[in-house]
Amino acid sequence: MTTTTAAPLDAVAARALLPAPGLLIGGEWLRTSSAAPFPHVDPATGRPTAEVVLAGPAEVDAAVAAARTAFPGWRRTPPGARRDALLRLADLLAGSASELAALTSVEMGQPFKAARAGVGAAVEWFRYYAGWADKLDGLVAPVAPGAALDYVVPEPYGVVAAIIPWNGPLISLALKVAPALAAGNTVVLKPPELAPFSSLRFAALAVEAGLPPGVLNVIPGGPSAGAALCGHPDVGKISFTGGSDTGRAVATAAARNHTPVVLELGGKSASLVFADADPAVTGKLAALLGVAQNSGQGCFLPTRLLVERPVYEAVLERVVGVVGGLRLGDPFDAATVMGPVVSEAACHRILAVIEDAVDAKAGRLCAGGRRAGGDLAGGFFVEPTVFADADPASRLVQEEIFGPVLAVLPFDDEEEAVALANDTRYGLAGYVWTNDVRRAHRVADALDAGYVSVNGMAPLPPQAPFGGWKASGCGLEGGRAGIDEFLRPKNVFVSLR
Ligand code: NAD
Repeated sequence: MTTTTAAPLDAVAARALLPAPGLLIGGEWLRTSSAAPFPHVDPATGRPTAEVVLAGPAEVDAAVAAARTAFPGWRRTPPGARRDALLRLADLLAGSASELAALTSVEMGQPFKAARAGVGAAVEWFRYYAGWADKLDGLVAPVAPGAALDYVVPEPYGVVAAIIPWNGPLISLALKVAPALAAGNTVVLKPPELAPFSSLRFAALAVEAGLPPGVLNVIPGGPSAGAALCGHPDVGKISFTGGSDTGRAVATAAARNHTPVVLELGGKSASLVFADADPAVTGKLAALLGVAQNSGQGCFLPTRLLVERPVYEAVLERVVGVVGGLRLGDPFDAATVMGPVVSEAACHRILAVIEDAVDAKAGRLCAGGRRAGGDLAGGFFVEPTVFADADPASRLVQEEIFGPVLAVLPFDDEEEAVALANDTRYGLAGYVWTNDVRRAHRVADALDAGYVSVNGMAPLPPQAPFGGWKASGCGLEGGRAGIDEFLRPKNVFVSLR
C-alpha cells in the first residue's frame, strides 16, 4: 500500500517518523548487532535523535551471504517482473516523498524543500532504470559467418556492494541500487551512520514493493563495515560514493580480490565567469550553487569562482550581497535557504580550514567565517563564507572543504581561466558562464572534468552519464553507461561445423 504523508510542519512531527533502528538482511529485520550503536545527533539542534544499529563484521557477512543466496533467483526473474518490482518501488517512494524528505532533513540537516526535490529525483532514477530492465540485449559478433555463431550476453555480477555518503543519501542510493537491481544483481547497501534513516525507510518500502528476501539488504554502518564489505570475496562489484582518500582505500581493498569498482569521489569544481555573461545572474547563481546549496556539501558544486577581471568586482559584490542575505535556520522552516552542516566534527573542521586560510592570508575574507550564534548556536551552522583574491596554490583553493566556503579568483583570459580550473587534483565538474557559443564549446573541450555545464546546471538527470576524472573517481552513473557498470559481457563462440 502506498503511504502518503503530508509535509510535516516541524521537526517534532518529523522525528515521530523515525524508523525503528535495525538492519534489513535476507528479508528480516535485525534489531541488535555485534557492533556498538551510534548515537545520532540532529545537526539542526545538536540534540540526540536515536541510537542507530550498525553492522559489524558478522552482519556484513550475513548480508553478503543473503544477497548471494538470493542472486540466482533474481537473475532468472523475467526482466519484465524485475521492471515491475522497481516501478512499484518507485511509486511507493513517490507516495512517501514527504516522509522521506523529512527523514533526510532530520538526519543530515538539508532544508525540507531541497530534500523533497531530492526524493523526486530518486523516484525518476528508479523509473528510468526500471525501464532498462527488459531492454538489456547483447550482440552477435561476425566472427565466422556460417561457420560459427559468436554472441555476447550481458550478465550481472552477482552481489553488488553499494556504499553511499551522508550528503544526499536517497539520491546516492538511487544512482546505484536502481541500475544494479534492474541488471539482475542483488545488493548490499551500506548507508553511513550519520544519515541512516531515509535508507531504512527505503528498505521498508522495498519490502513492501515485493522485492524477494535478500535481493536488497540494507546495513547502516561506519567505515569498518564499509571496509569489511569492500574486502569481502563474495562481492562481485563495488559501487562507492565518498571522499577521494576513502576511494583509494576502497580500490586497494577491492584489488586484493580483483573486484571491479565504480568510484564517485570528491571535487573542487570551478565556475568560469566570462565578462560577457550577465554579472547579476552569475553572481546570484554562484553564491547559491557554490555556497548555499546543501551548505556547500555537494561533490559537484562549484566551490571555486573564477571571474574575468573586467567584471570581477561587480560579480564579487553581487556574490557577497546574495550571501549576506541567505537565511540560515531550521530545515523545516520554508524560509530557510541554508541548513546546518552535518555534524559537530564537520563544523569544527570547516571552521579550522577558514581560520587557517585567514592566518595564511590565502584570500581576503569578504563574508561569513564564523559559526552562527543566537538561536542557531546549538546546531552545526557555519555562516556562508566568501574569500576573494584567493591564492591558487592554497589549501582553500586546492582541497575540497565540503562546507559553505567559496574561493573567488580573477583571471585575464580564457587560457588562464582554463589553466586555473584544471589546476587541482580533482576532475568532477566545470561550469562555464558566457554568451559566446564558440568560447563555450572551446572551454568545455579544454576542461579536465567529467561533467561540464554551460549557463546553468541540470539536477542529475538519470538519462545522462555522470562521473569524475582524476581524483574524482572512475566509472559512470546515469544513462545506458550507468547500467552497463553492473553488467559484464560474456562472449560465447559456437562452432557450426
Ligand atoms: P566518506 O568517504 O567519509 O564516506 C563515504 C562512505 O564510505 C560512508 O558510507 C563511509 O562509512 C564509508 N567508508 C568510510 N571508510 C571506508 C573504507 N575504508 N572502506 C569502505 N567504505 C568506507 O565520505 P562522506 O564524508 O560520507 O561524504 C562526503 C564525500 O563524498 C565528499 O568527498 C564528496 O565529494 C563525496 N561525494 C561524491 C559524489 C560523486 O558523485 N562524485 C557524490 C556525493 C558525495
